[in-house]
Amino acid sequence: MTDKSFNLINNLVREDVLNMVPYQSARREQSGGSFWLNANEAGGNNQLDVSLNNLNRYPDFQPQQLINAYAEYAGVDNKQILATRGADEGIEVLIRTFCQSAQDNIIICPPTYGMYAISAKSHAINVTLVPLTDDLQLDLAELSDNKDNAKIVFICSPNNPTGDVINKKDIIATLELFKNSALVVVDEAYIEFCPELSFAKLLNEYPNLVILRTLSKAFALAGLRCGFTLASEEVITMMSKIIAPYPISNPVSVIASQALTENLNEMQQRVLQTNKLTAEISEFLKQQSWLVKLFTSKTNYILFQANDANALFNSLIEQGVLIRNQSSQLSLENCLRVSIGNANELEQFKSAINSYNQQQEVLKCKT
Ligand SMILES: *Cc1c(COP(=O)(O)O)cnc(C)c1O
Repeated sequence: MTDKSFNLINNLVREDVLNMVPYQSARREQSGGSFWLNANEAGGNNQLDVSLNNLNRYPDFQPQQLINAYAEYAGVDNKQILATRGADEGIEVLIRTFCQSAQDNIIICPPTYGMYAISAKSHAINVTLVPLTDDLQLDLAELSDNKDNAKIVFICSPNNPTGDVINKKDIIATLELFKNSALVVVDEAYIEFCPELSFAKLLNEYPNLVILRTLSKAFALAGLRCGFTLASEEVITMMSKIIAPYPISNPVSVIASQALTENLNEMQQRVLQTNKLTAEISEFLKQQSWLVKLFTSKTNYILFQANDANALFNSLIEQGVLIRNQSSQLSLENCLRVSIGNANELEQFKSAINSYNQQQEVLKCKT
């Protein structure tokens, strides 16, 4: 092996890809552990019973049964839906469809979900940051200053990783602000935990509104890889030119259709159970002496600020409990995010925290 063989690849690859840091998904970043509370997944399996056939055939570009099921569930027209390989593919296809490489901009409002910037950078699209205000809401003045400087504005509501929703009137103001210049994408990955706050009803009113959805969170189907983009028929038609020719495999279509029809009640029960556990864990966290701040959650995760996030995070890892360290995100120093898994996983989380507290007591006595 000579240095030359390495140099060839380094010379061939796009310069921006060479220097790119890939998305650090929970699954890539942390391995091992026994209790996984780091990726906002549901803590239990689905009760699905499907039979698969026709695997010798290519699937329909957009399987009708699936699109009809989602249209019914979301209360939109079936021409306003594109099914994708997770919501992440929706983000990527939007960027590739509407942004010209090395020329156009997107706006993101950090701290927020990481994939908007990663997808943009992978297609050589500039990313303009308009950080959320101190109370984690949109900075409308700053957005206004960038009004003619973006093709897409990404708003995550409820926001990951902070957990609360963005004010409805501010999202509407943003739709108005960009109505002649940009798409406003509202990422509703967690909307099942607060369905009354969805923007889906406003699709017909705002032609520049795009909504992202997924089956990965409340539907407990992260392993399936199925998401949806809701938008005007015109937007869906353009995206359909760019997306892969068979984005939804047959098994995905069959399983997702069942989850959205016969098994819909199962999802709704899971949401009730999750909301109850979220309230319980919030109470538990509030009692901790090291807690600096507890963030409002309308989702299946809770963000909290500790006095020494690294010490707590590492102690939990040693005890097999994986949560997510958000300390490197803009204005989230010492912040950790715990996903609301099942009751057993959360018992492990609580007892690991109790052990951490005891360790800290021992340390204090020694000094
Ligand atoms: C999990 C998540 C996604 C991605 O969902 P997939 O359908 O699994 O690709 C998109 N947006 C946000 C805010 C998320 O938290």
